[in-house]
Amino acid sequence: MIPTPFDYQAPATLEEAVALLASDLDGAKVLAGGHSLIPAMKLRLAQPQLLVDIARIKSLSYIREEGDEIRIGATTTHYELESSDLLKRICPLLPACAASIGDVQVRNKGTIGGSVAHSDPAGDWPAAVLALDADLVLVGTNGERTVKAENFFVHLLTTDLQPGEILREIRIKKPSGRFAHAYQKVPHPASGFAVVGVAVNLALNDDGSCKSAGIGITGVAVKAYRAKAVESALAGSNLDDNTIAAAVTHVCDGIDPTGDLYASSDYRRHLAQVHTRRAIQAAKAH
Ligand SMILES: Cc1cc2nc3c(=O)[nH]c(=O)nc-3n(C[C@H](O)[C@H](O)[C@H](O)COP(=O)(O)OP(=O)(O)OC[C@H]3O[C@@H](n4cnc5c(N)ncnc54)[C@H](O)[C@@H]3O)c2cc1C
Repeated sequence: MIPTPFDYQAPATLEEAVALLASDLDGAKVLAGGHSLIPAMKLRLAQPQLLVDIARIKSLSYIREEGDEIRIGATTTHYELESSDLLKRICPLLPACAASIGDVQVRNKGTIGGSVAHSDPAGDWPAAVLALDADLVLVGTNGERTVKAENFFVHLLTTDLQPGEILREIRIKKPSGRFAHAYQKVPHPASGFAVVGVAVNLALNDDGSCKSAGIGITGVAVKAYRAKAVESALAGSNLDDNTIAAAVTHVCDGIDPTGDLYASSDYRRHLAQVHTRRAIQAAKAH
């Protein structure tokens, strides 16, 4: 199908982009990689009057260390995250997650900010930013505010972003000391999106026991979530097989797993348990 008619603006600065969005709070929409928004427009699920293309704002694309944080600009592409030597060294969960997304074309155009802002229930980035307890920096005409990833994902395709706001940056505390990361995904055979995706971020003591755990789950429910009961069961443990097996039985606590034509609710719950166990084992083995 063909999208409804729309205007297009490609501002050179973030300030101009914020002003353009503010000029039409109901009708304007941010365009980043376009790999979720354009298909939605072609299906007429989204009918913006004005697209504000932020992909050309150079100052929004970066991966850098700043103090004890990793800072990632919103328009950094999946490919840039996948191929970052810095991230492979200091936060391997991010390149592992990026590598699991779509195909080469999708990874070349799609952005981390677009994926997080879209809050697709089967999107990969939400699981990773939850596991890493990321802070999301949002900017609008009233200035800037920071929201924890945990509070950002509100519901299906719905986030805490307010009309006119742009997700500017993702901030992650640099993993320090011993840590273990893994991303495990069961891709849908047709779309490649996550039927279940599990992001694991373990902080370890010198003896290999678990200081704390961050577990982000996508694909299972209407929005990505942190499996807090699993995190608590792992923290302070020796990460032995019995502890992990018992912990993962809690991965859907408080969650009503989605059922669809491909995977029933019970099957998704089963997959979530199996792949959370595998992801924790894989992280531990590295
Ligand atoms: C064939 C195909 C396969 C795919 N496979 C996968 C997959 O396996 N896993 C996966 O996770 N994703 C997958 N995707 C989606 C892809 O990762 C998208 O790139 C991503 O979901 C959206 O990012 P984008 O930069 O393209 O955003 P866009 O499509 O430009 O925007 C998406 C939404 O976010 C808003 N938005 C974008 N950036 C910002 C911002 N900085 N601040 C505020 N709002 C913003 C837009 O207004 C829009 O509502 C696939 C897409 C395709 C077409």
